[in-house]
Amino acid sequence: AGKFAHPVCAGVQVAGGGPAISKAAGRPDAIFDTDGQITKRPVRALTLSALAPQRGEHLWDIGGGSGSIGIEWLMCDPTLSATTVEPRADRAARIRANADALGQDRLTVIEGSAPEVLGSLDLPDAVFIGGGLSAALLEWLFAQLPAGKRLVANAVTLESEALLAQWQAEKGGELLRIELAQAAPLGPRRGWKSAYPVVQWSVTL
Ligand code: SAH
Repeated sequence: AGKFAHPVCAGVQVAGGGPAISKAAGRPDAIFDTDGQITKRPVRALTLSALAPQRGEHLWDIGGGSGSIGIEWLMCDPTLSATTVEPRADRAARIRANADALGQDRLTVIEGSAPEVLGSLDLPDAVFIGGGLSAALLEWLFAQLPAGKRLVANAVTLESEALLAQWQAEKGGELLRIELAQAAPLGPRRGWKSAYPVVQWSVTL
């Protein structure tokens, strides 16, 4: 977290002119401790927009990683709550630490795999899949959750992208391909360094 002290992350510019931190989702990656598994800022902003949090809602953040999606969901409004599912103990501990450092104690961290652990959780209003995407997971969600809930899934690999393309053909919803490039040094000049494209499926169950 470093230069982004806690009060800054609540959305207030630091006294004496530190960097301005957005009150909108898509806060700097640097406010989250991470081992590299994190939804980067611009894609995170689009993901929170697609999740469209409404007052009092509960999110399942499947494939918690560093916890950035669940945490930014909570930062949208104090009435929101979230549960994140992450199988790796080190990452589950990091998510807890990030949530605590950013004052978001309404995040429940479950160390486990989806879909296996989902049956024991309180029902969500919205679900995000940032890891562990599989046909079994999608089948579980469509079979077990009440109709009308919102699902957003991000895919980076060809295999998970193919799965989303196939399910969108059957279930509808929106497929968005997010291709971003950032200017970076290229020899003495600059070039566009592309990120892996992310395919995002947003659908109502
Ligand atoms: N959205 C996260 C990054 C996700 S990285 C963030 O912004 O921080 C994907 C994560 O999914 C990894 O941490 C991986 O351990 C986790 N994962 C893999 N298989 C899973 C499964 N079956 N259930 C839940 N999480 C899983």
